[in-house]
Amino acid sequence: MQPSRGATAPAPPPNNDIVFACQHCATSFVVDAAAAGLQLTCQKCGEPTTVPNPALEDSSAEALKISDLQRQLKENESQRTEITGYINQLSIQLHRWQLRLKSLHERQQKLQAELAELAKS
Ligand SMILES: [Zn+2]
Repeated sequence: MQPSRGATAPAPPPNNDIVFACQHCATSFVVDAAAAGLQLTCQKCGEPTTVPNPALEDSSAEALKISDLQRQLKENESQRTEITGYINQLSIQLHRWQLRLKSLHERQQKLQAELAELAKS
């Protein structure tokens, strides 16, 4: 088990040193950046432990971020398609209602004209 990299982890130092914890006893060590990725023997418990490589971790975090953004884009696109479909359907429906209203209006004028004709005589 690796020590968790939670909010309590110390902020990385401004220089190139790497702060990491032994994978066995969790003792913190500071090593030069040149040791990144190497396996060292813990000075406290004597077990071998691997120095994390910040460059690799950064690029894997970036890859995660990229795949997450791609997933969000895909989801966004499918929602766009769905809503565009709704709008198209409703536009067709609106057009049908407008035609129906127009024919009702024409019928009203015809009926009123007939009524006016009969009232005259
Ligand atoms: Zn140790």
